[in-house]
Amino acid sequence: MIIVLKADVEVGAPELVPLIELAESYPDVRTEFHRIQGATRSVTEVYLLGHTGVIPTEPFEEFACVEKVVRVTEKFRAIGRHGGDLDAVGFEYNGVQISQDNFHPFPGLCAVDTKENVDAMFRALAEHGVKTTRAGAYKPRTSPYDFQGHGAGCLPYVFELAGKHGIRIIAMEVTHESHIEEIQEALVASGGATGVMLQIGTRNAQNFELLKAVGQQTELPVLFKRGMGITLEESLNACEYVASAGNRRIVFCLRGMKTQLGDPHRNLVDFGHVPVVKRLTRLPVCIDPSHSVGSRALGSDGILDIFHVTAQGVIAGANMVLVDFHPRPEQAMCDGPQALLMQELPRWLEDLAIVREAYQARLDRVSVSPASPDHS
Ligand code: PEP
Ligand code: MN
Repeated sequence: MIIVLKADVEVGAPELVPLIELAESYPDVRTEFHRIQGATRSVTEVYLLGHTGVIPTEPFEEFACVEKVVRVTEKFRAIGRHGGDLDAVGFEYNGVQISQDNFHPFPGLCAVDTKENVDAMFRALAEHGVKTTRAGAYKPRTSPYDFQGHGAGCLPYVFELAGKHGIRIIAMEVTHESHIEEIQEALVASGGATGVMLQIGTRNAQNFELLKAVGQQTELPVLFKRGMGITLEESLNACEYVASAGNRRIVFCLRGMKTQLGDPHRNLVDFGHVPVVKRLTRLPVCIDPSHSVGSRALGSDGILDIFHVTAQGVIAGANMVLVDFHPRPEQAMCDGPQALLMQELPRWLEDLAIVREAYQARLDRVSVSPASPDHS
C-alpha cells in the first residue's frame, strides 16, 4: 500500500507520527519513506510493507496530510503506476532533470577508443549545447576476440574531458558489479567533473545480482535496457529488481527486439512501446535507435533509417535518446558501421527539435479534447 502525502508535507513532519504509529500497529507491517521528485513538484510517499492486504485504506485517508491511498498490485510494485493511480517519477541528477515530461538527447561514442576521439566527440557536443552523452568503457561483446573496452584505465581522461567540455551526464554500461565502484572512485578522483548514469545492457537485463548491485547504491542513476529476447513483462520485472533494492532513479530504455525473421534492421524496432512503458510504469523512457537499426541504411527519401526511427520514438513521447556517433567511424573498435558522422550532428538535433515540437503540439490537442481509452 502506498500513502501519497500532500505536496507540502515533508519527511519527519510531526503530523506523520500518528499515521506511522497506526500503520505499524498492524502485525508485520513496516513503513518506508520515499521522496518523489516530479517535473513540477515533489511529493513524499509512505510505503507500507509486509502483510498489508488486510489493512483498510479509510483510516489513512482521513488524515489531513494524506492526498490519497493506493493499493498496489503484485506486479511492478516499485516502478508501476498501479492502474494510473500514481504519478510518474522523475529525478534530478548533476543538474539535469529527467522525467516523463521532458526530453534529453544522449549522442556519443558506442565505445571509448582513443583520447583524441573522446575529445573530438565532447567538443562537438559542447559546440551544439549538448550536456548529456554516452561512452562505453566496459563492452559486452558477442565474441571474446572482439575489443572489450578500455575499462577503468580510460575513466580518468574520459571524466576529465567531460568536465572540460561541460558534459553533465555520461551513460556508461557496467557488466560487472566491480565496475560500479571503479566508476565511483574515478568520479571522486576527477573532483566530480561529470556524472554517470549506469547502463544495464540488454544482455544483462536478467542478471539479477548485477541489477541488485546497481540498485543498492543510490548515488548514480540507472539506465535499464530491455532484454532483447524476453517479454516486456519480464523486462519490467527485471527492472523492478533495481527499484526494489533501493534506487528509484531509473530510466527504461527500448532498444529493439531480436527476431528470427531476417529483418532489414539489426533488431525489430519497438518504439511503439514508448507510450506503453510510460503508461505501465512511473519511469522516464529512453530509445536507442542505433542498436535497433544497426546500420547506416538510407531511406529512398534520403533520410537515414536511424533518423526515421529516432523521430518515431520522439514523436511518441520518448524522454531520452541514446545514439552512436563517431568522429572516424572507419577506425571505431565497436559498432562503427552504425555510427552517425560528426557533420550529421546538427541535422540530427534539428530533426529532434522538429519531432519533439510535434509531440508537444499533439499533447496540446489532447488536453483540449481527450480521447476515450477504448471502445470495447
Ligand atoms: C550499447 O548501448 O552499447 C549496447 C551494447 O547496447 P545493447 O545492450 O542495447 O545491445
Ligand atoms: Mn554499440
